[in-house]
Amino acid sequence: MENNLLHSISNELQELEKQGNSRELHLITQQGNMIQQEEKSGYNLSSNDYLGLARDTALHEEFLRSMSRDNAIFSASSSRLLTGNHVLYAQLEAQLSHMFGTESALVFNSGYHMNMGILPAISNKRTLILADKWVHASLIDGIRLSAAQHFRYRHGDYAHLEGLLAKYASRFERIIIVTESIFSMDGDCTDLSYLVRLKHHYRNILLYVDEAHAIGVRGIKGLGCAEEQGCKAEIDFLTGTFGKALASLGGYLVCSQPIRDYLVNKMRTLMFTTALPPINLMWSLFILERLDSFVDQRRQLQKNSALLKKQIVAKGYDCRSESHILPLIIGDSKAAVLKAEELQRNGFYVLPVRPPTVPEGTARIRLSLTANITTSLIHQLAANL
Ligand SMILES: *Cc1c(COP(=O)(O)O)cnc(C)c1O
Repeated sequence: MENNLLHSISNELQELEKQGNSRELHLITQQGNMIQQEEKSGYNLSSNDYLGLARDTALHEEFLRSMSRDNAIFSASSSRLLTGNHVLYAQLEAQLSHMFGTESALVFNSGYHMNMGILPAISNKRTLILADKWVHASLIDGIRLSAAQHFRYRHGDYAHLEGLLAKYASRFERIIIVTESIFSMDGDCTDLSYLVRLKHHYRNILLYVDEAHAIGVRGIKGLGCAEEQGCKAEIDFLTGTFGKALASLGGYLVCSQPIRDYLVNKMRTLMFTTALPPINLMWSLFILERLDSFVDQRRQLQKNSALLKKQIVAKGYDCRSESHILPLIIGDSKAAVLKAEELQRNGFYVLPVRPPTVPEGTARIRLSLTANITTSLIHQLAANL
């Protein structure tokens, strides 16, 4: 039995190796924007620290000055439903609902916990989930764990979505449309206001939007694409993560009070896990309180993205990004690995993204920009593409 398992997994690993799709964990050290991986080092173009806040030492120092031995608590030691619900949760959630103008908010241990937990909690057999084909793995896992029926519409293809609605809407009690606002692999954006209009044509549609890559980055106040498109209030489940531009850890949902109350009763990934450490909640709150002030970083990120996109397109690559995430689509997995290695040799820390993370034949290098990359470095990078 044991030998059988070892035999079959080593075969599978060899197969992955042959296809150029094998993965491993690299040891990384970071200094400012530079990354070192064993003997290689380069400018980090694979980070989700879009505004540069995770590396902002002045900000860290300001935060540390607000800490004392009494409020530096490193573990919640319990689930939120038992004794882990520190008063900072109330402050953080009040801050979120104040900023978004919603009745309430709920914070989770990570975006993964959030997406994996909400959908199963709010669905039953009479629910239909319609999800964009390219939504994040955490949403797919949430859908799989739910009792709902589901279909995935072709990426960004709203005609396909409308066709599915016309066919199935009347057969289900409730329909949940699930999408991201900025997609993590192509960097393209969802037309949220269109989905809001669509929702109003039916009586039983709820919208679930994951702003993981947009929170902090988009909108005047940094509240995401829903702020930018003026439709925050129309999205029933508006979610995001603290782990990317917000430079912390955790997930959040802004929603109505009944939805929050219901999730507290039903959501397994909220109930059966140790709460976030108070020190982490404090840092998240510290960042949120300053979020509307990072206007220059948001503007700079937008400028940087437009410049790099122009260069990528000029080199003949197909690039449909509308954000700071810019794919360099190579096609073949091995070719993508080689291209990434070449860029690494030239001082740019980039990583290949291969199937099954992206569709077969669209292996790529995913460039993710930050606010503090310089124009001359963008030109240098472009010269290497
Ligand atoms: C990163 C990401 C998540 C996961 O968030 P974590 O806080 O890192 O667990 C969820 N959804 C999307 C779209 C993401 O990009």
